[in-house]
Amino acid sequence: MLDKKNKDAEKLLLQVKSMAEILDNIGAYVFAKDLDGKYIYINSDVANLFQMPVDDIIGKDDSHFFDLGISDELRLNDLKVIKHKVAIESEENNSVKSTGKIHTYKTIKKPLFNDKNQVIGLIGISTDITTQKTLETENKNQKNLLDVILNNVDAYIYMKDSNRTFKYVNSRVAELFGLPAKDIIGKRDIDVIPQEFADHFWQTDKLVFEQGEKIVINETSLGADNKIHHYLSIKVPCDFEENNKTLIGFSTDVTELYHLKEKFKKLANTDELTGLYNRRYFFDNAKHEFNRAKRNLQALGVISIDIDHFKDINDQYGHPMGDKALLKITDLIIPTIRTEDILARIGGEEFLILLPHTPKEQCQKFAERLRKLIDTTPISITNNIQLAIKISLGVAVIKTTDTCFEDMYARSDVALYKAKSLGRNQVVIID
Ligand code: GH3
Ligand code: MG
Ligand code: MG
Repeated sequence: MLDKKNKDAEKLLLQVKSMAEILDNIGAYVFAKDLDGKYIYINSDVANLFQMPVDDIIGKDDSHFFDLGISDELRLNDLKVIKHKVAIESEENNSVKSTGKIHTYKTIKKPLFNDKNQVIGLIGISTDITTQKTLETENKNQKNLLDVILNNVDAYIYMKDSNRTFKYVNSRVAELFGLPAKDIIGKRDIDVIPQEFADHFWQTDKLVFEQGEKIVINETSLGADNKIHHYLSIKVPCDFEENNKTLIGFSTDVTELYHLKEKFKKLANTDELTGLYNRRYFFDNAKHEFNRAKRNLQALGVISIDIDHFKDINDQYGHPMGDKALLKITDLIIPTIRTEDILARIGGEEFLILLPHTPKEQCQKFAERLRKLIDTTPISITNNIQLAIKISLGVAVIKTTDTCFEDMYARSDVALYKAKSLGRNQVVIID
């Protein structure tokens, strides 16, 4: 009998010992407290934390180990568990007196019952989640920082996968698409923007996925203002997930710059007074047209035009009236040319017309028609002043012996000179 009792006691002791051993190696703080908040059990982690032997801790409450504010808070939680007989889970920030360091714990506390189902205290298990918390906070801070940067940088920033699905958009993209970011992320481009633009973007997106390389490209799209916008886009592959290729795009709105560039380009090619092409544009294009005509054995004509005695008009009515007359003559010439012809003002009152695909007789006929038109049209420069302006024209067409445009242009110039010397208001052609 005694033997059996001894054996049972030994078994029990073994069980208790192994339980204690397990609790000491569980990697968490395990404790039990009585109704007064005094420790009745602690595992070795708690003893290590308090830096005191187990026996010095048992029988003492938290006021011995934590600052007053913290121990009061702990006590409140303990009382909640005891009074309401409920388990509570909480996150507690504790500064341990012995080390002074602030730690964050995830604590589960449960009421401890006796055989009669009366609460006699509580048991608790606390896991130190300080590192996890620090990482979480760092992550949150970094995310916030990134959000602030991405949402305030003057660019549209987005992430898209190879299924055309948006993975991220910054607030500028959201504004542009007129939808909250959360309604864009997870959707395909064709579901949030007009197909035409989605397909236009997709062309280069696809290249990034195929080539796996950064691409810099100009793109266009309809802006929130319903106008066409121009973007300079940089698209970089960034494969965060395996089997799901992703790219990050940075698009800057360069619409203003684009229009400025176009304006400068136009200015560089335009005659200020008449709005016609200028000398530079004419000769650049005449060179190309000459090469093409020569290569394809096609006709090409050029007409040099100079207004007769224009100096007299300036002398009689003043320079501004002379300008007005130039504009009126320009307005007369413009409707006579075809879209493929190039009309330019190359100097004071001198014009050139390039006539692609136009053989000699047609050039001559055209020049004569133009001469006649100017000759017979009175040019009004004020309500009561009408001028009878005449022009002289020199015509030349491409020859097989010509090596450059200047060769044929020189002949039209000589022809013009000849028209002047023959009495003006006439067309001369030089073969
Ligand atoms: P012609 O050609 O018949 O020999 O006589 P012209 O008087 O027209 O002589 P020329 O072609 O040599 O002179 C051109 C004149 O055109 C000189 C200048 O007074 C005038 N002119 C040149 N550029 C402008 C301009 O931009 N505006 C005005 N109003 N006059 C100009
Ligand atoms: Mg002249
Ligand atoms: Mg002249």
